Amino acid sequence: MIQADIKEKLQQIVGPENYDDSKAGRLVYSYDASPQFQSMPDAVVAPRNKEEVQKIVKICNKHRIPIVPRGSGSNLCAGTCPIEGGIVLLFKHMNKILEIDEENLTVTVEPGVITLDMIKAVEAKGLFYPPDPSSMKISTIGGNINENSGGLRGLKYGVTRDYVLALEAVLASGEVIRTGGKLAKDVAGYDLTRLLVGSEGTLAVITEATLKLLPMPEAKKTMLALYQDIEACAQTVSDIIANRIIPATLEFLDQPTLQAVEAFAHIGLPTNVKAVLLIEQDGPQEVVERDIEKIAEICRKQHAVDVKVAASPEHAEALMTARRSALSALARLKPTTILEDATVPRSEVAKMVVAINEIAEKYGLHIGTFGHAGDGNLHPTCLADIRDQDEMERVEKAFAEIFQKAIELGGTITGEHGVGMAKAPYLEWKLGKPGISVMNAIKNALDPNHILNPGKVFAKETDRVVMEK
Ligand SMILES: Cc1cc2nc3c(=O)[nH]c(=O)nc-3n(C[C@H](O)[C@H](O)[C@H](O)COP(=O)(O)OP(=O)(O)OC[C@H]3O[C@@H](n4cnc5c(N)ncnc54)[C@H](O)[C@@H]3O)c2cc1C
Repeated sequence: MIQADIKEKLQQIVGPENYDDSKAGRLVYSYDASPQFQSMPDAVVAPRNKEEVQKIVKICNKHRIPIVPRGSGSNLCAGTCPIEGGIVLLFKHMNKILEIDEENLTVTVEPGVITLDMIKAVEAKGLFYPPDPSSMKISTIGGNINENSGGLRGLKYGVTRDYVLALEAVLASGEVIRTGGKLAKDVAGYDLTRLLVGSEGTLAVITEATLKLLPMPEAKKTMLALYQDIEACAQTVSDIIANRIIPATLEFLDQPTLQAVEAFAHIGLPTNVKAVLLIEQDGPQEVVERDIEKIAEICRKQHAVDVKVAASPEHAEALMTARRSALSALARLKPTTILEDATVPRSEVAKMVVAINEIAEKYGLHIGTFGHAGDGNLHPTCLADIRDQDEMERVEKAFAEIFQKAIELGGTITGEHGVGMAKAPYLEWKLGKPGISVMNAIKNALDPNHILNPGKVFAKETDRVVMEK
């Protein structure tokens, strides 16, 4: 509970209307998009500017009150679950687009701006912000930066990290740092911008970001390649890249995912094939035509049963939207949806897909797989029921095996969703003890009282999972 005198101070800073410690208000922010995790905050505080953030952080640091920065709570790693109570710091008022700079090709925003709102604003000026998480209709840029989110265009254009040029951040001490700038080049000191990107609210509170923009590509074309053999489908991914073609989008959907998406979107997706690749190329018209033709040829060589090019921009957009709805579509089928994002080198996608199916069978689970195959980033999605304890234990074992397999194949436990609480017990598998020590040293230097998003990224000794030999 927040003491009465501290509550009064916080209310004076943000105004009573932006401080909520009612039970209903706190309940809303006790969970996020990750199943299995819930914990009540003591209060929800919504600052209106950087100065208010500074004052709040100073008070919390002095009184050791945990701060959980929160955009829209759409993260899938329990990154905003207030496991140690304290305040949820909500950015709903700090949602402005401050500047679109057409000379430097940058956009500067407050952290609470909704990703799609910003994308629409820059596109209205003929500019392009490539990172497009499927959740972009609801996610915020502050959340995207802190999870280093990816999207359907990651293969060719990279992830959020590749577009963050400058940050303004409030440290746990209440001091403000500004990193980077509207610069193509900057090697002055350690790269603090990159340190903060993907830091999951554990190192600083982001209050402003300047992002890089590109000119809008001249043309794009979208196609579907259909397969009855999952391995051949996954192998096509490596073949396309090996042929020195980098499509903008190269997505994989297996049959259970296709069936769920079609039942949800009704756009005529093939549901009688074992898997499809959704492929998009953009760029100059002639390059797009040439690449799409070559990709179709590669798909057929790998025994695609059919290759269909979208008939119109509207059809292409419908296909991409359908893919973006994969998680929501699967989530309709069972009460609990656990989506992971084990990631492997592209060349290992086929092996990883086969392993996921074998593990699902071994544990008697329903796991659909889709994902950014071109990035090696797969989303095995388990449909379960949290009330069935036996099933949930099997889910846990299955995902531990999936993570272990990903690491064995040279991959990682998360490609874009972050560690949060959900994957903290496995982080040492990827980083080893020395890696965790380095992270601890950074955390202790920047947030010595551990008030910033405690309980995330770092697992308690007792929660660590030991890797099977
Ligand atoms: C249906 C669905 C589809 C999704 N698709 C994708 C996808 O394609 N690609 C992908 O990468 N992810 C995807 N996600 C996951 C999620 O949407 C992303 O992680 C997103 O970036 C989270 O944004 P948010 O605003 O909801 O952040 P939140 O969930 O509120 O927060 C995420 C993290 O950022 C921290 N944070 C937020 N704001 C700040 C700030 N101002 N300062 C410091 N820390 C802050 C939080 O503490 C937390 O650790 C999907 C989720 C859903 C539900």
